[in-house]
Amino acid sequence: MTEDSTDLFDDLFARRVVPVLVPMPAPKAYSYAVPEGMAVEPGSIVQVPLGPRQVVGVVWDGTDDGSVDPKKLKAITRAFDCPPLSKDMRTFLDWVAAYTVSPPGLVARMALRAPAAFDPEPMIEGLRLTDTRPERMTPARQRVIAAADNGFAWTRSGLAHAAGTSSSVIDGLAVQGVFETIFMPPPPVVALPDPDYAEHRLEGPQKQAAQDLLDSVDVGGFSVSLIDGITGSGKTEVYFEAIAATLKAGRQVLILLPEIALTASFLERFQDRFGSKPAEWHSDLAPRTREKVWRQVTEGGVRVVAGARSALFLPFENLGLIIVDEEHDPAYKQEDRVFYNARDMAVVRARIGEFPVVLVSATPSVESRVNGDLGRYKPIHLPTRFGDAALPDLGLVDMRRHPPERGGFLSPVLLRHIGKAVERGEQALLFLNRRGYAPLTLCRVCGHRFQCPDCSSWLVEHRFRGQIQCHHCGYAERTPESCPECGTFDHLVACGPGVERIAEEVDRHFPDARTIVLSSDLMGVKRLRLELEAIARGEADIVVGTQLVAKGHNFPMMTFVGIVDADIGLANGDPRAAERTFQLLSQVTGRAGRTGLKSLGLLQTYQPQHPVMQAIVSGDSQAFYEREINEREKALLPPFGRLASVIVSADTRADAEGHARGLRQAAPKVSGIGILGPAEAPLALIRGRHRFRLLVHGRRNSDMQAFVKTMMANGPKMRGSVSVQLDIDPQSFL
Ligand code: ADP
Ligand code: ZN
Repeated sequence: MTEDSTDLFDDLFARRVVPVLVPMPAPKAYSYAVPEGMAVEPGSIVQVPLGPRQVVGVVWDGTDDGSVDPKKLKAITRAFDCPPLSKDMRTFLDWVAAYTVSPPGLVARMALRAPAAFDPEPMIEGLRLTDTRPERMTPARQRVIAAADNGFAWTRSGLAHAAGTSSSVIDGLAVQGVFETIFMPPPPVVALPDPDYAEHRLEGPQKQAAQDLLDSVDVGGFSVSLIDGITGSGKTEVYFEAIAATLKAGRQVLILLPEIALTASFLERFQDRFGSKPAEWHSDLAPRTREKVWRQVTEGGVRVVAGARSALFLPFENLGLIIVDEEHDPAYKQEDRVFYNARDMAVVRARIGEFPVVLVSATPSVESRVNGDLGRYKPIHLPTRFGDAALPDLGLVDMRRHPPERGGFLSPVLLRHIGKAVERGEQALLFLNRRGYAPLTLCRVCGHRFQCPDCSSWLVEHRFRGQIQCHHCGYAERTPESCPECGTFDHLVACGPGVERIAEEVDRHFPDARTIVLSSDLMGVKRLRLELEAIARGEADIVVGTQLVAKGHNFPMMTFVGIVDADIGLANGDPRAAERTFQLLSQVTGRAGRTGLKSLGLLQTYQPQHPVMQAIVSGDSQAFYEREINEREKALLPPFGRLASVIVSADTRADAEGHARGLRQAAPKVSGIGILGPAEAPLALIRGRHRFRLLVHGRRNSDMQAFVKTMMANGPKMRGSVSVQLDIDPQSFL
């Protein structure tokens, strides 16, 4: 052997080098040496030194590019005893990074959101009965021995509970050798679901729908189904069948829900059908639970997860089905760090993993609807409500003809129907998508308007808290008594309504009714859940709420729904404004009449002729979609064209604008892709950052990612306080 080949041998084997993706905004994986004797493979979760710190990373695919002398590389500190991220998962993370034009490390970070879970869960101490018996027997001791005499291992407290004794009795027996200590695996976070636990009989069109769905799910492989059915038609029942089939095939299921933290009723329904609850995944989980769920999902012990969008990044052991309920919901879009739409990425994950995905909605997004019409997605329709539940009658209240009394916001028509529902002992829901008391406060003497010092937005009065708050950055101050501009006392006026103000108006008209305000800023998630349950039990007469009342709750006694301001979302320059309004209002009015009771929904509007209003009251959603699809097609808006937003922010307006202009000049000339802007963003200032936007508009087959990447690479260097965010397929234009 020559000298040379010995060196080669050293480099290749003595110091193996692997790429490791660290959870940072780094553009690629870094090379690390693998210490002798450490076994790692692509996907292994490891700890590596990064600068002065130790961080968690994932061994990635690919080989070292050889640019650094391996002897100079830092070595992996430790490999966790944890299942590696699967090849599919790694492909998925790479795909999301490329599609969203995000650093792969930041995407991988989303899959690693449970640091303490990378070590195995500690075994727990248990007791098992031996053949030894105590010298002196007592009735309590006898009960303990009888309870434990089944060969199983028990926890101390579990056995004490089963035998109805205190744990000191058990300790006494253990000392005498009646029990031996053993170590057992930690208990599962949720019991195993049983696909045959309580099968429901599907009725009418549900049968065909379930059959159509199972046709796709049973053959396995990638497919996208779109269940499109009015609220209460049994969409959930139908997709439960697909879940049962997947469980029987031994694979895991992910159910994405937009507001999981608030939909306790969903978990119960699941339990009624499958005998146990799914594991939950959302940002309000206690850290310990979060870690257990993550670990048991990767090990395969958890079979079904119901989660918010972030659950899509859980490293399932054997995922075989994703359900995206309320697929149209804007909450699926993350607009922070990595800008992604969980609905779209769920389809990608299913394609990579070669399993079915099911999108579900009463009012599908125009994008999904078009995909259904074109046969890319398999459409499954549920046209009627289940059983004797009827859809509510819907009507418009023309506010020009039925104006509210001075200082009020509720027309006499709405008030009359609220009164009737309360008299019948039923419930009324008033919906207004505005938190707080009033969206704007001004001084009647000098006209001063209270504005956030750090954002271009008005401060919203929250009377319950005695504060005025910014809804963009959280800035808050005590509601002042005098005007800071002119010093006049007692002349501040609230302009426009928020839910608190509507509740006040309701109280004035119905002082004896039990009125409750539901708004995310008024209480934490736990309280909200309890309140929602209380409402479902009938413990409120009138509910005033923001959009969180719209989501999936079942209020059996809710027979009247009033929309305080149906026009609110229509005039904001968003290409999806009409669609969003249609979806939200349909969802809210769908809260009514979910049992046999006759019900009514009324929408207060100043534009009764608007196509959105007409579509809702006529129940002719088909016409609405046709019109909307037509307009999108003409304007080449999604899904007929593609959009990408580039948001430039900086500490000064000039820096933000200058950088945005520089980007525009650096944009490549590509046929089929154009740029609008830069324009000052509608929210020109957030948290003291000045914002400018560019909108890239391309044809359906345009490579938007390549375009924005070239633009960024050729554009001005990022200097000072400037930062740029990319949003592929933007949902928000603020
Ligand atoms: P959707 O998801 O379309 O709003 P759900 O699946 O929630 O509809 O069904 C509405 C209500 O009707 C639920 O309370 C559900 O329990 C009931 N339901 C629907 N289909 C059936 C069925 N086949 N058997 C028993 N109950 C059903
Ligand atoms: Zn602010």
